[in-house]
Amino acid sequence: MALFAVDALAEKPFRDEVLDLIRRDAVESWSAEDLLTWAVGKFHPRLTISASFGAPEGMVLIDMLHRIDPTTRVFVLDTGRLHAATYDLIDRVRDRYDKQVEVVFPDASEVESFVRAKGVNAFYESIENRKQCCQIRKVLPMRRYLAGVDAYVTGLRRDQNANRAETRKLAIDPAAGGIIKLAPLADWTHERVLEYVGQHQVPVNRLHREGYPSVGCEPCTRAIGPGDDPRAGRWWWENDEVKECGLHVHEESDGSGI
Ligand code: SF4
Repeated sequence: MALFAVDALAEKPFRDEVLDLIRRDAVESWSAEDLLTWAVGKFHPRLTISASFGAPEGMVLIDMLHRIDPTTRVFVLDTGRLHAATYDLIDRVRDRYDKQVEVVFPDASEVESFVRAKGVNAFYESIENRKQCCQIRKVLPMRRYLAGVDAYVTGLRRDQNANRAETRKLAIDPAAGGIIKLAPLADWTHERVLEYVGQHQVPVNRLHREGYPSVGCEPCTRAIGPGDDPRAGRWWWENDEVKECGLHVHEESDGSGI
């Protein structure tokens, strides 16, 4: 449980309540809807959903939060290398929920320097290059964006992979300057996510139907076969231990994991 790095909460009126809930692990028994309702009451409009538009979990959260308060915020990192299907979904969400999706871009000069020095597809050449690309196109833009909010919601689930097995529903995120990180679906299964999608006709990325369990950047994601690990289509040329992009690394790591 992360109780360090609470600097960003130092002046916040809700600080003591949040820290007490974390210490007691109190929200672990709350439903996703109950946790989101509490979070909207506590943090909105300085609350946002981190949605990749490439996984059904983020879409479930958008739908759920929209039912609680249609003015809740959502952002997406546009790395500049997303699939066309993902851009289509961003616009479908704008239309369906009448919601202005906050599209967050990387710093153009950082991308230019990296591409000029190493090439447009340098991520295939080494893990170091790949991590640098993710850092410039994902991690740094996300940190800059999150500096303007008090709390963010993610679609992380504990059974997605070993790195996410310890995910708490309510935590402090040291990598995001010590703001609140919520994972209301932490104890959901993949089947439960799909059930919610079907029940509420939630729009999802059309590439899921073509063998992509999750959809990341176009050059770094491919379809998988029956029985493959759900993360097998991500950075498939690397080994399995390091498959995170650095957005949701565990607190004890050095922040450079993928
Ligand atoms: S997933 Fe691939 S293209 Fe996207 S930021 Fe990471 S390395 Fe770059």
